[in-house]
Amino acid sequence: MASILAPDELGPTVCVGEILVEIVATTVGDGFRDAQPLIGPFASGAPAIFISQCGRLGGRAAMVGAVGDDDFGRVNTDRLKRDGVDVSAISIDPEYPTGSAFVRYRKDGSRDFVYNIAKSAAARFGWTRHVSDLINRSGHLHVMGSALSMPSARDVIDKAVDVIKSRGGTLSVDPNIRKELRLDEDTERRFAKLVAAADLLLPSGEELERAAGVEGEDNAVRRLLELGVKEIVLKRGAAGATYFNGQGERIDIPAFAVEEIDPTGAGDCFGGAYLTCRRLGMPAQDALTYAAAAGARNVTVRGPMEGAGTREELDAFISATERRSLMQIHLSELAALRIAGRPRGITSVCSAHPVVLRAALRHGRQHASTVLIEATCNQVNHRGGYTGMTPKDFAALVEKLAKEEGCPGHLVVLGGDHLGPNPWRDRPAEEAMAEAEKMVAAYVEAGFRKIHLDASMGCLGEPQALDDETTAHRAARLAAVAEASARRNGGAMPVYILGTEVPPPGGADHALTAIEPTAASAARQTIDVHRQVFEKAGLQEAFARAIGLVVQPGVEFGNHNVILYDRSKIETLQQVLTDEPQFVFEAHSTDYQGTRSLGALVEDGFPILKVGPELTFVLREALYGLDLIASDLVPGYGERPLHAAMEALMSAHPDNWNRHYHGTEGEKRWLRHYSLSDRIRYYWTSPDAQSAVERLYDALRGRLVPVPLFWQHMPAAQQFAEAPLDPEEVLIWRVTRSLADYHAACGAG
Ligand code: ATP
Ligand code: MG
Repeated sequence: MASILAPDELGPTVCVGEILVEIVATTVGDGFRDAQPLIGPFASGAPAIFISQCGRLGGRAAMVGAVGDDDFGRVNTDRLKRDGVDVSAISIDPEYPTGSAFVRYRKDGSRDFVYNIAKSAAARFGWTRHVSDLINRSGHLHVMGSALSMPSARDVIDKAVDVIKSRGGTLSVDPNIRKELRLDEDTERRFAKLVAAADLLLPSGEELERAAGVEGEDNAVRRLLELGVKEIVLKRGAAGATYFNGQGERIDIPAFAVEEIDPTGAGDCFGGAYLTCRRLGMPAQDALTYAAAAGARNVTVRGPMEGAGTREELDAFISATERRSLMQIHLSELAALRIAGRPRGITSVCSAHPVVLRAALRHGRQHASTVLIEATCNQVNHRGGYTGMTPKDFAALVEKLAKEEGCPGHLVVLGGDHLGPNPWRDRPAEEAMAEAEKMVAAYVEAGFRKIHLDASMGCLGEPQALDDETTAHRAARLAAVAEASARRNGGAMPVYILGTEVPPPGGADHALTAIEPTAASAARQTIDVHRQVFEKAGLQEAFARAIGLVVQPGVEFGNHNVILYDRSKIETLQQVLTDEPQFVFEAHSTDYQGTRSLGALVEDGFPILKVGPELTFVLREALYGLDLIASDLVPGYGERPLHAAMEALMSAHPDNWNRHYHGTEGEKRWLRHYSLSDRIRYYWTSPDAQSAVERLYDALRGRLVPVPLFWQHMPAAQQFAEAPLDPEEVLIWRVTRSLADYHAACGAG
């Protein structure tokens, strides 16, 4: 199918019409009667969105319209220029302000508007010398039906159609006139004439019938093609689009599955992309793919034209999105989803235990959901950390397990947690920071994409916790290293998490009774200071990718108790997110909270839920259950030999628990095995522990375990009774039960 549109070389695509700024309410609700948080100005106006998309895709593009001599105007002209649009025919009105639209979404997805268009610069332009110069060298005109109700646009369009057509140029029309809308006789005649003269028609839904003047989709298409329209692309929102041409060909193209954040502008990005691809010589099928990608990408971003993509961006979007399911979540979308009133959460699995990782990856494959796996500075670093793994080793382990579990790579995201001088804080700050820089580089080079910068802890001779200023400077140094490593790698740029919760990572040591949430003022200050320091260091781009702030939501667990989330305590803290729409909160130590508390956290602005000790606690619980079953079932296995091996191991090497567990010998003995802090997790990699676990596996593998033994030692696992047992499957099942609680709380179930 050769293009029926004038090629790009003939001259630019021109759009005529309103140029606006859009200012959007950040909350969902009714109208603007009360003072409320807003975000904007965003460059807008349907014709401007359309032409911006043309320019971004590398087509020649120009705009006719007007703005005021004010910043709202400059937001638009700067934006269009940046997108490669010729702005020579945009006039600057000295008297009237730039047009504007305030928009707020209601709960049902409809919108309330406050417009200032008709009495603004947006409606005040005409056939000037600049316009005439432009039209005389243009190759294509795109017209919005709605522009016909603007007298100034009407004159320009009339003349432009004649000039461009007589040069061999072409015309596209987006009817965008609602079906019920009756125009006055003169406008109706102009509209019909324009439709008949169109080479390409881009209606949406019922506008097709409105433009054809007949009922029924097939009838309308036939009628329009008879009138001389050469191509029709019917837009159907999230249901996709359909292409028709005069030769009776039809192509149906599905929409990409995305989370809709802001539907404004989808149709214009779709149309701009389709038209440009066709004018650049692409076949209809390919142009439709780019168009659908442009429309879909634009709805994932707040602001009417912020998601308009370049060719490279759309290519990346297409390859990342084609197989994408709705359970998949991008970290950079979390804030926007929250603002859109559809908060979604993500479980951050903080464990290096292969069985835990396997469970997480299998769960991810089964639910086609993103699997976020994080390693901590002490656990994994360029010197090996306590697991002996470098970031590269850890990434390789996850990759191997993901392959074995059939979990596709695009579902897996790796994160580095508390990355900073922490592991070397017994050394002078400079030395510790030099190590931290090497560690961050190693993480980013190994493909970790979520980087938590935490330089809050003091080094040798410094206070235990540093002030925001010093912390931010150190974080900025580390961000600079991360940015450079990512660029060198040529991979996706990292997203950053800032800040730290007050208690130490890995859970608190004592029985806790209450824990105070972070003060809103402290959270604001952390963000402000980091923003300033990053800007001074020329790291604005990195800061723009800071998506999360670690704060204390008031949840914690001690050795033998859990402090459940109390949402009434974080009302002022939540306000911070209203003022800082790029951020969400990250909650650490959410272990043992259960679905209800976790769900409340997600709703309240804490979509990133870190969990570690709970997963290894339940893993240990299952191992000890199997140890008991084997003791009762298998002759010669002995009395709880796994328990005995762990007791011997931990007693001989108390370093990982003795600063955490206090009390009598009897108390310490049970804490070693059952404390919620789960310090025992540090011991599973030791050879003694591994051989004890192997012995347990060997004792039970392939055995038929009678139901009563499960009832006695692990009642919930009775489904494994009476079939040849695979012990590791029992462990994975147990960890998955915890992961499922998280999954349900994340709103993806
Ligand atoms: P607008 O809503 O901006 O007036 P429109 O009604 O003219 O636009 P739509 O049909 O809403 O146009 O969107 C155009 C195209 O963008 C669709 O055909 C589809 O490919 C894509 N699109 C729109 N909304 C979504 C969505 N929620 N998910 C995926 N793709 C979408
Ligand atoms: Mg629409």
